[in-house]
Amino acid sequence: MRLLGVLGGMSWTSTAEYYRLLNEGVAHRLGGLHSARLLMHSVDFAPVAQMQHDGDWDGAAEVLAEAARGLERAGAQGLLLATNTMHKVADRVQSATSIPLFHIGDATARRVREAGHRRVGLLATAFTMEQDFYTGRLAAHGLEVVLPDERGRADVHRVIYEELCHDVVQEESRARYREVMAALAADGAEAVVLGCTEIGLLVGQDDATVPLFDTTAIHAEDAVSWMLASP
Ligand code: GLU
Repeated sequence: MRLLGVLGGMSWTSTAEYYRLLNEGVAHRLGGLHSARLLMHSVDFAPVAQMQHDGDWDGAAEVLAEAARGLERAGAQGLLLATNTMHKVADRVQSATSIPLFHIGDATARRVREAGHRRVGLLATAFTMEQDFYTGRLAAHGLEVVLPDERGRADVHRVIYEELCHDVVQEESRARYREVMAALAADGAEAVVLGCTEIGLLVGQDDATVPLFDTTAIHAEDAVSWMLASP
């Protein structure tokens, strides 16, 4: 089994989910007591989140590049950056090492296309929804991205940073996400991408009328296939 390096802690609540999914995936595929061969560098999220909000993406890229180099030195053969938002600096992290980084947007877009959808709604942080690094990447795969309106984007963003990253799951936030997803479907979205790794903690397929694509689950599944593929 290949050794996977995970860049996590953004936030820890979703990294815990990745850890569970990677281990479940390997156990499911190999059976018995098999589990995932992992190295993890879990950052302190507070300074990274501050850099995001200050627009200091160079600083955030350097924190992650340094962590990625450490994982490579320790023997990791591939990298998983366990957050959508920080894929804004994915190229910088990739170029800091000589091992492959598995892009969460590419993995998700491939899955959406395979399912036959073209017009997709996106729920994510404001950075991911409003800047081009992620929607542009989905568009490069032939997807048309539909975003929530301004109030919807603000609510989705706030719930991520003020609740889900603190391991807080609230019924009224779930209701609001349902409303936002229903509006996306009414706007013609054939499916919705949960483009933030914490969102699966709050909503699932039962909360939506269109298919949901959870980036955390898709990213983890693809990583498991890579870990178990013959070299
Ligand atoms: N985990 C989130 C994401 O997938 C948000 C936290 C972060 O900004 O990294 O975008």
